[in-house]
Amino acid sequence: MADDCLFCKIARGEIPAKVLYRDDEVVAFEDINPQAPFHVLVIPCRHISTLNDAEDGDEGLLGRLVLCAARLAREHGHAADGYRTVFNCNRGAGQTVFHIHLHLLGGRSMDWPPG
Ligand code: 5GP
Ligand code: ZN
Repeated sequence: MADDCLFCKIARGEIPAKVLYRDDEVVAFEDINPQAPFHVLVIPCRHISTLNDAEDGDEGLLGRLVLCAARLAREHGHAADGYRTVFNCNRGAGQTVFHIHLHLLGGRSMDWPPG
């Protein structure tokens, strides 16, 4: 837990968010500045700053993030058309909030490579 971390506060319910899913380890909520018609952030409740800081032993937690994203995509009707999941790691990749989050984007076609 990091006292001044925005996503820790969302995980603890101290800052409001449009939460789509929550359990003891994972929270999924709508991105405040969506880059697609469906843009959700899936985070661990435990503070991990970047993917570089994930360790041996975090496999289960990281897997839960990915499976949560896939389930939400399916439940919201994006499984067949397709969707994208992205971890931005560090500033060079566009990370602005330093609590890991898996972006889940759907509802439009996606270009490759990403910008
Ligand atoms: P990053 O650039 O770190 O990969 O992604 C951070 C994401 O968090 C951005 O897409 C941004 O719109 C989103 N975001 C930043 N602040 C808030 C907030 O207070 N609430 C929600 N729901 N999303 C936020
Ligand atoms: Zn945090």
